[in-house]
Amino acid sequence: MSALSWALSTHTEHACQPSAVRMSDSQDRIAACNGGDDVPVITQPTTRGGLRVYKIVVLGDGGVGKSAVTLQFVSHRFLNYHDPTIEDSYQKQAVIDGEAALLDILDTAGQVRDSYVEFTAMREQYMRCGEGFMICYSVTDRHSFQETMEYRKLISRVRANEDIPLVLVGNKYDLQQQRKVTTEEGKALAEELGCPFYETSAALRQFVDDAFFSLVRQIRAKERSRNSHRKRSRWWRIRSIFAFIFRRKQRHALHYSP
Ligand code: GDP
Ligand code: MG
Repeated sequence: MSALSWALSTHTEHACQPSAVRMSDSQDRIAACNGGDDVPVITQPTTRGGLRVYKIVVLGDGGVGKSAVTLQFVSHRFLNYHDPTIEDSYQKQAVIDGEAALLDILDTAGQVRDSYVEFTAMREQYMRCGEGFMICYSVTDRHSFQETMEYRKLISRVRANEDIPLVLVGNKYDLQQQRKVTTEEGKALAEELGCPFYETSAALRQFVDDAFFSLVRQIRAKERSRNSHRKRSRWWRIRSIFAFIFRRKQRHALHYSP
């Protein structure tokens, strides 16, 4: 599936889609994705087959292991060849903190610089529709580490003034002999970005689940705080209407009292 159809997907099928999940009753998401630059873009969470769908975008330089990490997560397989042009989406059902979830993951291709030069409609659309972003670098490639900040800026270009669920991933943790970026540097960058950090190994399937799960947890936390804020503001509106009526009645009573 192309990135654009991922962003607009409502009725999608894919080889990695668990058969238990029916796609036919998905809710329309297009309306939820057409917000402006300065408003939160996701307004309506999507469900498919009764499961909450979490739209996740995997970003990072070519060769850092985005596809390998995604495929390990989705199908417990290690991809030992590299095709920098593959951009595809995958679905994976998981139970996270006792609650079922359907992760709809877009594994992107292309360098951050391409995006600055040509911020295509497709890229803009998936940046708008992603609910959580995984920014990957390779611990064996310092340049990919330096580029992570550029991916963060790219997200901000489309999602300014928004609290974005984000995770920083330093992949190829198993290649200790070739390490060029220390764990401390990764931690410091994550602190700067204000997000969780994992060093993963797609080859050994280490911390791969943790990285994806942390995004779902952040999305849920964001949703909970938004809902409680909405409830509070609805309650305050009702309260102020009653207070207004009460004050008016009191004034009226004082005015007409003998
Ligand atoms: P992408 O361009 O970011 O999607 O990178 P790929 O997933 O295609 O991976 C690039 C190359 O790195 C492939 O040859 C993978 O087999 C290899 N690779 C990916 N992740 C790991 C890892 O965790 N450890 C090791 N040793 N190799 C990896
Ligand atoms: Mg790839």
